[in-house]
Amino acid sequence: MTIPVIDHFINGQRRAPSPDASTSNVFNPATGQVIAHVKAARSAEVNQAVAGAAAAFEAWSQMSLGRRTAVLFAFRQLLAAGTDELAKIVVREHGKVLDDARGEVGRGLDVVDFACGIPELLKGSYSPQVSTDFDVYSFREPLGVVAGITPFNFPVMVPLWMAPLAIATGNTFILKPSKQDPSASLFLADLWTKAGLPDGVFQVIQGGRGSVADLLIHPDIRAISFVGSTPVARHIHQVGTSHGKRVQALGGAKNHAVILPDADLDFAAASTVAAAFGAAGQRCMAIATAVVIDAVADDFVEQVVAKARNVKVADGMTPGVDMGAVISQAARDRIEDTVDSAQRDGAAIVLDGRGWRPADSPEGFFTGPTVIDHVRPGMRAYDEEIFGPVLTVVRVRDLDEALCLVNANPYGNGAVVFSASGGDARRFVRGVNAGMIGVNVPIPVPVPYYSFGGWKDSLIGESHIYGPDGVRFYTRAKVITQRWPSQSPSQSQSQGASFHFASASS
Ligand code: NAD
Repeated sequence: MTIPVIDHFINGQRRAPSPDASTSNVFNPATGQVIAHVKAARSAEVNQAVAGAAAAFEAWSQMSLGRRTAVLFAFRQLLAAGTDELAKIVVREHGKVLDDARGEVGRGLDVVDFACGIPELLKGSYSPQVSTDFDVYSFREPLGVVAGITPFNFPVMVPLWMAPLAIATGNTFILKPSKQDPSASLFLADLWTKAGLPDGVFQVIQGGRGSVADLLIHPDIRAISFVGSTPVARHIHQVGTSHGKRVQALGGAKNHAVILPDADLDFAAASTVAAAFGAAGQRCMAIATAVVIDAVADDFVEQVVAKARNVKVADGMTPGVDMGAVISQAARDRIEDTVDSAQRDGAAIVLDGRGWRPADSPEGFFTGPTVIDHVRPGMRAYDEEIFGPVLTVVRVRDLDEALCLVNANPYGNGAVVFSASGGDARRFVRGVNAGMIGVNVPIPVPVPYYSFGGWKDSLIGESHIYGPDGVRFYTRAKVITQRWPSQSPSQSQSQGASFHFASASS
């Protein structure tokens, strides 16, 4: 059987990559089979994509808001209609379950909805008569060519955190998706074309760090949006900003859920299990650590283990399944190795998913849900982002100790409290050092009219993504101070000229 090679998408067309470019395998994680090859864009291909995007910028940025919005609405309709097809592409290359993949497309669609309101979002401001016969107004303009570099775990949603707003605000956009699940990027590219987006406004180049290196130093790229692990986020931010680009760089996570004694334990346990093992724990907002107050810890752990035992694990295309495979053999090895380390460190493996393989697909990249109790800071299983179906449990005396623990962790993406007490929940919300906080909500991903972003090592730089921060990131402000001396009843031209800095009261 011939293995297909994933194309780039440049200037409105799918482009076969250079045959001699370096090649990686794309797997179906559920079977462990190689289903495609992806070849890294060479510098010439990156330059071609940037040149095409730069050439398309002038016309696109000058296109009326009404016509730009019409493209976004058309894209929105096509994306909604294509949800199932796109979700299946995601399942095949990522391994998550079909309903979850549909949910991912839906979350991306929400951002497109937000971008459809761009005429409202780009409204400027106007202050008449700030000084005698002077008016001031301001508006925002696009940057030019911008690029997005995205992780494997949301091959649709994360590109859609970026592209709709970048494009709606008048920029042209180059996507460099993960080479582990690259096909969704081409489906999106086709939808943009069908929606009437002019050639060159949305480009896709495939590849890994080499292709990113070319983007980071390219003089015609004005801004980089990055979502991925923290070490790479730091690198992208450092190299991108030192080459004069705006960079928004969202990094890794280690999200804590604090379970207070007055919480509805059944609800908290069910929510924690869903948030820890959904997408096999490969979400940047997954609950990685449950922080439980001693008084209810035994009860909570017992309920979590009982529920986690019932998580149905199989190929993501199987109806009714809860959790699929992890992305790669290497990821599975890393995850199971981290569980080994917890055992050596003296933690209690109260549910052990290591070595779990489905009878009908033994070559798939599966590992079962794992719960590790009595974990402490200093253990590798606590300190590192595991990014797999592993829930660590840390026991603490009270809310104060819980807050100290969460705040001492280097990551600060999401943090959750389960409680029936408004006062305790409020203390948590006010006292916790994290960007996105859930109160009895296990995965508090903001709706797109708020922005998404963490604190500490979960965000390098300062710009959050999508929402109002997204509009600001992809635009820059112009402030205009004007007067029309010949029209002015109060001043002749020569009287209006001044050698002195005038103040607003003049
Ligand atoms: P990754 O950092 O390995 O890769 C992300 C992107 O960067 C990919 O496109 C990859 O090709 C590229 N890349 C990798 N190494 C590079 C290098 N040295 N130089 C330049 N580019 C490089 O991340 P991943 O494994 O694909 O995704 C999982 C990570 O992403 C986890 O850490 C997860 O927490 C994080 N994530 C964060 C968020 C968030 O919103 N904060 C969202 C999703 C995922």
